Amino acid sequence: MEKGKLNQIEILIQDHIITFNQDQAIDHKTIDQFLRSQALKVFNERLCVMYKYFIPYNVKKPTLKIRKMKSRYGTCYYNDQKIILNLSLIQCKISHIDYVIAHELCHFLYPDHGKGFKALLSAVVPDWRDKKIELNKLFGRLPS
Ligand SMILES: [Zn+2]
Repeated sequence: MEKGKLNQIEILIQDHIITFNQDQAIDHKTIDQFLRSQALKVFNERLCVMYKYFIPYNVKKPTLKIRKMKSRYGTCYYNDQKIILNLSLIQCKISHIDYVIAHELCHFLYPDHGKGFKALLSAVVPDWRDKKIELNKLFGRLPS
């Protein structure tokens, strides 16, 4: 989140700058709700797109939850058929969101980050290493 001109708050979502005026009585809770509604829409759309790559592997389509997380982009609960994505990803590029979704979907077949996992992820997102580096730069840390 960035502060724009006086009395304005600007939020960048996939290359679109959305500006709120302070006189709309905007507060952090409202912005949070807005980001969550955008995230729910975009993440579910991207899950549908990325899931198609995993149908041949008999992966069941997981449910998607959104959470604010400090140290992770996403988490996979493969026993519960559920993936959780970091709310902050809504402010990243679609290609970054796709990479994180693909990463989590790979975990339904490979719980670790071993050779099989990397081979599958490379088949779905060939430049995933670049995406990972870009995301780490954006988030300023190195999660697994
Ligand atoms: Zn992982």
